[in-house]
Amino acid sequence: MLRPATALLTLWCWAISVTAEPSSFDGQRAMQHIANQLAYGPRTPDNQQAKQQTLEYIQQQLAPLSDSLVTQSFSAYQLQGTNLWASFDGEKDTTQRLIFGAHWDSRLHADRDPEVSHRHQPVLGANDGASGVAVLLELARILAITPAPVTVDLVFFDLEDMGDIEGRPYAIGASQFIVTNPNYRPQAGAIVDMVCDKNLSIPRELYSQTRARSLMDKIWDIAEQQKATAFKNRRGQYIYDDHLPFLEAGLDVVDLIHYPFPSYWHTISDTIDKCSASSLQQVGNVLSAFIYSYK
Ligand SMILES: [Zn+2]
Repeated sequence: MLRPATALLTLWCWAISVTAEPSSFDGQRAMQHIANQLAYGPRTPDNQQAKQQTLEYIQQQLAPLSDSLVTQSFSAYQLQGTNLWASFDGEKDTTQRLIFGAHWDSRLHADRDPEVSHRHQPVLGANDGASGVAVLLELARILAITPAPVTVDLVFFDLEDMGDIEGRPYAIGASQFIVTNPNYRPQAGAIVDMVCDKNLSIPRELYSQTRARSLMDKIWDIAEQQKATAFKNRRGQYIYDDHLPFLEAGLDVVDLIHYPFPSYWHTISDTIDKCSASSLQQVGNVLSAFIYSYK
């Protein structure tokens, strides 16, 4: 049993240690956000219950933390979708803003599964979907504790992963976001997609590299300073992801994505055992440093 005086001292020390590092991104908490999303099942258009529960989960996380939370529903390609947009006001400047995005849906069909009989099953999307959402939710926690110098928007896109299914494109939700918010002009931003792999490898995605070179250099400089070895200082591939609608609208939003895609990509094996807290931690640390040093 702890004597009251000792207990008080312990509590006081705990309070000091908590306030000493208020804005540290926690990879373990991000892992838990992945597990919580997966518990609802695949977030696919044919699984509306899981989608509703996941949407409510994300909303419940953000509501007490953000300065505004906007839900934007849309119809496109015979599907209903919902984007979520949380904003965190800048401490010094609310005219400049940064955007970080991730897709919260998962893929309807595991069409890359080596087992043909699995290819009509849905993808759970621990890495492809849930990992990006998890990073954003953990960023939300630290942004609420320590406001960033400029406003930060965290946007959760629906219907990224319906590409090449019944003729649909990728990034439906992100395209809708651009259409719905034509006056939205953030200064910079990044999409995080597939960022939890145990052997995380994020080279310089080529649309980002060719169209937003200086922003890419800024992010990779931070990664180098932090020895965040998941960020590879080499050319990746041209990848169609949620950043493309932004780049096409003339906005500097780049894609942080694992490449080459892991062997379980778009298979039923995209499960949480492929993920690691330390990979999420590296991505979170780089993004936090980018956010808090932004001028
Ligand atoms: Zn995908």
